[in-house]
Amino acid sequence: MCGKDNLRLRYVADPVSRVGYLDAWCDDCFRGVHVSRVSVPDGVRFTPFGECEEGDVPNYTTVN
Ligand SMILES: [Zn+2]
Repeated sequence: MCGKDNLRLRYVADPVSRVGYLDAWCDDCFRGVHVSRVSVPDGVRFTPFGECEEGDVPNYTTVN
């Protein structure tokens, strides 16, 4: 986004199907994207539905 290398990712997904959504944002300028339907890649950690907590993701500005 801003050229800094501070991209953060958070997957929230169904523990069985591993389908869910992704928040990706920059920790410097707090701009990011929300992807509403993704499959979590093998080996990538994710938060099961219902276990995500307030404050996990900053209130970033969505860009396309
Ligand atoms: Zn940035």
